[in-house]
Amino acid sequence: MLQTHFFTFNPFQENTYILFDETNECVIIDPGCSTDAERNELTKFISVNKLKPVLLINTHSHLDHMVGNSFIEHTYNIPFLLHKNELPILHSAVATGRMYGIEITPSPEPDRFIEDDELIHFGNSVLKTLYTPGHAPGEVSFYNAESKIVIAGDVLFNGSIGRFDFPLSSYESLMQSIFNKLLVLPDDVKVYSGHGSVTTIGKERRTNPYLLEYADSLN
Ligand SMILES: [Zn+2]
Repeated sequence: MLQTHFFTFNPFQENTYILFDETNECVIIDPGCSTDAERNELTKFISVNKLKPVLLINTHSHLDHMVGNSFIEHTYNIPFLLHKNELPILHSAVATGRMYGIEITPSPEPDRFIEDDELIHFGNSVLKTLYTPGHAPGEVSFYNAESKIVIAGDVLFNGSIGRFDFPLSSYESLMQSIFNKLLVLPDDVKVYSGHGSVTTIGKERRTNPYLLEYADSLN
């Protein structure tokens, strides 16, 4: 059974995820560790729990989600997976970091691109890739049906939605992603987002003001 652990890292309060199962293989999603203390916290969790990292994945490559890519690559030497539409974001991260006064070590290039609906296997587990652009052009979410979780990056939050005012963002794409890819999941699926606390698909469908407003605008 898949287990989910997250850390909240860096000045943007970004959630970094480690997913693992009974085989102890794990995937690291969106490593936001940006200080020695944060990097140590992440590696300590992995070593204490005797986990074996096998994949590094970015839901999207805004700097708060990729600032630890280089560290993970150098520490564990594992393949890095990304959607190809995210390359412009990945490649602009160092310059964007400079704007915020944050020094970013350039990320390694992806070893492989991931596609919509692709199944990512590790240990005894499988993640289904859901292409969910809008906040970022190549953002993807990851669904595990057995443990009823979705890793939703900065697409959907507890009571909110991803920002759509960045270069290459699109409100319409974001809404299509949320309605066609996430809200079609069962109500009791837990949503683990890139920022903030865990929620469920059902709660967001019923109470998220941004989604209710969009649904209203269609009627
Ligand atoms: Zn983002």
